[in-house]
Amino acid sequence: MHPSQFKKISEEEVFVKWDDGREYSLTMKYLRERCPCASCAGESVLWREYKPNPLQILTPGKYNLKAAEVIGNYAFALTWADGHNTGIYAFDYLKKICEEYKKEPSVQSTDKAD
Ligand SMILES: [Zn+2]
Repeated sequence: MHPSQFKKISEEEVFVKWDDGREYSLTMKYLRERCPCASCAGESVLWREYKPNPLQILTPGKYNLKAAEVIGNYAFALTWADGHNTGIYAFDYLKKICEEYKKEPSVQSTDKAD
C-alpha cells in the first residue's frame, strides 16, 4: 500500500490519498499524537500506565507539520515545526491510523458518494 498523495491542505490538516483510491484528511495533531518514534511511543505508554490524564506540555509548533520526506519507498519521515523529526511513519502504519481516524466520532465526514 502506497500513498499517491500526501499534502498539507490547511494549517491544521493533511490530505492523504492511497493507491487503492481511498482519501483521508487528518489533523496534524492527530498525526503527531501517533508519532511512532521511540521517545513519543514510549512516553505515551508510560503516561497511560501512571498518569491517566497527563498535562499536555505544548511546544510551539508541535502540531505544525513542516516537511514530509519519503524514505526508501516504505515510509514518511515527518519534520515538525518544533524540530521533532525522528518519527518514521511506515506506510502500513499511516494507513492504519488513517482508517482509525475515520472511526473517531468527532470527525466530520465529507459525504462523498461514489
Ligand atoms: Zn516522536
